[in-house]
Amino acid sequence: MKNKNPNAEHVWKQFEDLLVPRLRLSITDRAVYSHLLRHSRLEGKRRLRFSISWLARGARLCTNSARWALRRLIGHGVLRLLERSKAGHVVEVRLPDEIRATRHRKTRRRDARPRPRCLDFEEDFLKSRALRRTIHVRERGRCFYCLRRLTPLIRCLDHVIPRVSFGSNSYRNLVSCCLQCNSQKRDRPAGDFLRWLYRQRRLTDAELTARLRALDALVSGKLPPPLLRKL
Ligand SMILES: [Zn+2]
Repeated sequence: MKNKNPNAEHVWKQFEDLLVPRLRLSITDRAVYSHLLRHSRLEGKRRLRFSISWLARGARLCTNSARWALRRLIGHGVLRLLERSKAGHVVEVRLPDEIRATRHRKTRRRDARPRPRCLDFEEDFLKSRALRRTIHVRERGRCFYCLRRLTPLIRCLDHVIPRVSFGSNSYRNLVSCCLQCNSQKRDRPAGDFLRWLYRQRRLTDAELTARLRALDALVSGKLPPPLLRKL
């Protein structure tokens, strides 16, 4: 995706004056963000595909530090994780102006009216019971993976991309599923788990195809929970 190059001077002032103090970014977070910003937005690209080793080398960090900084930046909404696979990470790199923590306070000072709530990809859907419930409602009482009918006793929420692999608590990464699928999936990718269910004959051919399609739709944000549809 090509975008107009931002004004680098403005971006850097916003980065130093607003983003760093408001999010309390550490030296490593700053190094990682600067490096990613340099190779994405300052090249006119919103999205960037890269490997952890490339990032660590470029920011002069060890791979673990780079990985943790990346995780923190995703958590702050500075980066949006679009894909994580063997080929590397794909993130959307946000400019300071585009980050909620920076933007909100600036707007509030000028305009005290309450802001309308809008669909937020990064909202933490585990933070309240009402939000967790919307994920169960979206799946309409069926396990997202094996399609078994769920009752409150056997249902739970599962991270499609596990927390350990930077999976967020966004509605694009949470599904309602049965306890059995939740424990059998563990940290494997959701697509692999669905194929495993098919080999176990717990899904038919047609169901597998439909589930993989639903998984694609989920990850790309096309399955917002009902609460958000109304807003
Ligand atoms: Zn299940």
